[in-house]
Amino acid sequence: MPFQATKAVRFVSLFFLAVLLIFTGCQGVFFKGQTEEKVVALTFDDGPDPVYTPQVLAILDRFNVRATFFMIGRQAQTYPEGVRQVQSRGHEIGNHSLRHLFYLSWLPPDRMRMEIRETQEVIYRINGEYPRYFRSPMGWVSKDLIAVCRELNLPIINGSVKAGDVSLPGTEYIIETVLSSVQSGDIIILHDAGGVSGFKDRSQTLDALPVIIKKLQDQGYRFVFLDELIHPPSKDR
Ligand SMILES: [Zn+2]
Repeated sequence: MPFQATKAVRFVSLFFLAVLLIFTGCQGVFFKGQTEEKVVALTFDDGPDPVYTPQVLAILDRFNVRATFFMIGRQAQTYPEGVRQVQSRGHEIGNHSLRHLFYLSWLPPDRMRMEIRETQEVIYRINGEYPRYFRSPMGWVSKDLIAVCRELNLPIINGSVKAGDVSLPGTEYIIETVLSSVQSGDIIILHDAGGVSGFKDRSQTLDALPVIIKKLQDQGYRFVFLDELIHPPSKDR
């Protein structure tokens, strides 16, 4: 991949981490599970997407892997069939906010609450189940966001392995970044859509995904739901 792009991805990742540390002290946000077992959770953000989500689902089926899809409320409204497909194939759906505002964490709490609750309702209206987890746009969180999510009984899931696939760093880079950093309990972040970032093409992710899954399975890793890494509250809400 181009050197500048690599640098940019690293810089952005470090920036995310710095913001998290400054504003939250990392409390109330899950980055990974604490386990010695060879298990990881695969997560996909920003969908559902009519072109790429079905292709991601086909790959996951091929390897018999289940994942969690953090969906944007507006995307779910536009493409409800994608929500139904993800659910019917046995995957979990998480809440990735209504409009994916990068400044969500700094909105007044009542507006923040509306963005998250409305997404809960959008997804519930489509598939009859409320998401049990929240992931903030860009992974940015604040004390207010942590408080709102605690009140809504939604654990905030960040992640521990990010390949920056949303900014098209190259298939090899995505594969290498994930495989070189994965450890037990990791939560891997990839994207099955990406219109929000302006980089809509997910073909690199689609090319990288089978290689990543196969290599990790060969190394003895099992792909698990977030439940196995984190203990969420009851579904009744
Ligand atoms: Zn996102």
